Amino acid sequence: MYRFYKQIIDIAKDKKCLTGFCVTFISAVIAIVAIKLFTQTQINSDADNLPETQIYAENIDEPDNDFIAEEFIEEIPQVTEETRENTIAVKSGDTLLKILTNLGLEYSRANDIYLATKKVYDPRELRVGQELQISMLWNIPENKLIEINNLSTKINKTESVVVERDDEGNYKAEIQKTELTKETYSAEGEIEGILATAMSKQKVPAGTIAEFINIFSYSVDFRRDIKKGDKFAIIYDSYITPEGDIAKNGDILFASLTLGKTKIELYRFKDKNGNVDYYDEKGYAMKKTLSRKPMSYQNARISSPFGKRFHPIYKDYRIHWGIDYAAPKNSLVYAGGDGVVQVAKYNGGYGNYIKIRHNSEYSTAYGHMQKFAKGIRPGVRVKQGQIIGYVGSTGRSTGPHLHYEVIQNGRRVNPLKVKASASENLRGKNLTNFKIQVANIQKTQQKMLASKNKNAANDDKLAANAQVLDKTQN
Ligand SMILES: [Zn+2]
Repeated sequence: MYRFYKQIIDIAKDKKCLTGFCVTFISAVIAIVAIKLFTQTQINSDADNLPETQIYAENIDEPDNDFIAEEFIEEIPQVTEETRENTIAVKSGDTLLKILTNLGLEYSRANDIYLATKKVYDPRELRVGQELQISMLWNIPENKLIEINNLSTKINKTESVVVERDDEGNYKAEIQKTELTKETYSAEGEIEGILATAMSKQKVPAGTIAEFINIFSYSVDFRRDIKKGDKFAIIYDSYITPEGDIAKNGDILFASLTLGKTKIELYRFKDKNGNVDYYDEKGYAMKKTLSRKPMSYQNARISSPFGKRFHPIYKDYRIHWGIDYAAPKNSLVYAGGDGVVQVAKYNGGYGNYIKIRHNSEYSTAYGHMQKFAKGIRPGVRVKQGQIIGYVGSTGRSTGPHLHYEVIQNGRRVNPLKVKASASENLRGKNLTNFKIQVANIQKTQQKMLASKNKNAANDDKLAANAQVLDKTQN
């Protein structure tokens, strides 16, 4: 203020005007400035005296809106459009065209998107509830859609259709695959009644359960062999989406069933030729198909084939429901496949007769045996290749031979026509690699078991704490 006053005096001195007018002018200026200063001070001190809330209220009551808006417009160019993201769930009766035109997109552009989409995905396959993520260019002042930038929708667990507008304004659609991660899981449990139920309780995916049953289907009859208290164990892979959902079933690395006292453990192995099969811990192949000649005497000749033949005893043509293998008396007779002995008794024309049920589809029968092997009786589980009896000539027989039948779904079929197994036991390099893999799987199994026990222990601790808490609250 003082400087301002001095300036005026200086001007006056320069102009050499110390006349009465000059004095009056300078005085007037000083007076005006002084009044202004005083008023300012007063406002400030008033403000100082006001309670805070009141100042705040006053500031809100008298905003200089018009002034701010004008200044804003002058400094920043006006924003008239923006990108808006929208998620739309398909409703009943919706079509892609309808959804897009409902957003305000003109029909021809909606049709462009429709045609682009159709090249990779039929928009008619949109399901009710399926979500479309749509990025839109929006006109703010007019509050309406200008263009669709891009659109995407998940068409299954692993794929999305993405439609995008390029620089020229053309739409292009493509299928984008979701990146999946492979995770290894383990599960085990006791079977109450149905195996699938027990596995499902342990969160094993349905497809993996089906595969598990398939692996054992040649040696286990799931309807009859599973008893309450039997156990399963499994280590399997699943492919997981970034959201944590199972998108795809992976391989079963280890599968185990404990049926009564019998424990069957199978490990998956891909040999150097790329063949995948399941083997026991020692590298013996899982026996998937029935033996054609289930006996020790591999030179045994077919004395009577399957089918229509002249009967040596009845002296007429009739159907022979099995194969006769002529062999020296007391040659060993093997189980044609893993299974459970259903019948082991003297059976009329069959003589000493054994029937083994392998699975829900196949059974095998053995006739004319001299005697049964020790311990072979109904209900006993046998492994493929296990000795069940000895060649003889009991029943209607003209000499020592094995009468062998394969029964498929209750009908006797030609044992030679039953698909032979391609599996072989592992040897050499394959066996070495297999053993390394088995060791790794066993390590994984132990680790998973340990972490499960730890979790269980933690759960117990939590439960115990909760009980303490309950008590204190009571
Ligand atoms: Zn026969």
